[in-house]
Amino acid sequence: MRIDLHAHSAASDGTDAPAEVVRAAVRAGLDVVALTDHDTTSGWEEAAATARRLGIALVPGMEISCQAGGISVHLLSYLHDPTDEALLAETSRTRDDRVGRARRMVERIAQDHPLTWDDVAGQVTDGATVGRPHIADALVARGVVASRDEAFAGILDSRSPYYVRHYAPGAADAVRLVRAAGGVPVMAHPRAGRRGRVVDDEVIAGLADAGLAGLEVDHRDHLPEERVALRGLARDLGLLVTGASDYHGTGKLNGIGEHTTSPAVLEAIEATATGTRVVRG
Ligand code: AMP
Ligand code: FE
Ligand code: FE
Ligand code: ZN
Repeated sequence: MRIDLHAHSAASDGTDAPAEVVRAAVRAGLDVVALTDHDTTSGWEEAAATARRLGIALVPGMEISCQAGGISVHLLSYLHDPTDEALLAETSRTRDDRVGRARRMVERIAQDHPLTWDDVAGQVTDGATVGRPHIADALVARGVVASRDEAFAGILDSRSPYYVRHYAPGAADAVRLVRAAGGVPVMAHPRAGRRGRVVDDEVIAGLADAGLAGLEVDHRDHLPEERVALRGLARDLGLLVTGASDYHGTGKLNGIGEHTTSPAVLEAIEATATGTRVVRG
């Protein structure tokens, strides 16, 4: 059984349509794939229909943008109720604020580079969660940079003068909201420190107290020694350990299925969730 619990579609900042993410998972020989777009579940239906047709299991999920003491935290939610009002209120607020934030970043960037809001809007699939990757795509289209990666290494870096923050709920609140919506909260790439600050172990312990279920340990943004430390932390806090690709289509080097999660951990996630079910083909 090969299980990848973290992938993005064009419903947020991936480059593949949700159906194409599922097809890519099948091509990679996966048995299970989770669709975890940023702050939205709008890709679930299309992905589920394709998964049923192709006979692969789909775990409906989402990656919630949150923060702890101003440090960005990404929280994966699996199998929550997509109609839960309290959770929807937070993700809609984040998605709305992401638009204004992207506009403000474009205003700043436009002082030094040829870029308009229309350029960026043209890179966003209708209704998708807007993010810096869309600004990156517009900069690539304008010939300012050669790739998303180059954009993130400079103009879009969180320490760049063009950077603007967006609204995000507190991570402990988000953990509680996911649980209340019947979902299973797992902290995404807890030690991915190359793109900004990461929270320390005490913050993660606090999230565990709030109901966090697991840590995403096997992820390309973690060094081997970071994975060892995270496994130890998960053991101490009684948390599940997952691994996943964080696939974004052609938007990132991450290949679908490059890291995986054990069947026992998926079983534990499934046994805990009450919001919605794994879609089986
Ligand atoms: P935002 O949520 O709008 O602040 O943008 C962050 C998103 O940008 C993350 O979800 C990543 O998927 C993406 N990202 C970060 N660094 C890179 C990179 N070097 N290349 C491509 N995408 C990236
Ligand atoms: Fe992303
Ligand atoms: Fe993330
Ligand atoms: Zn992600």
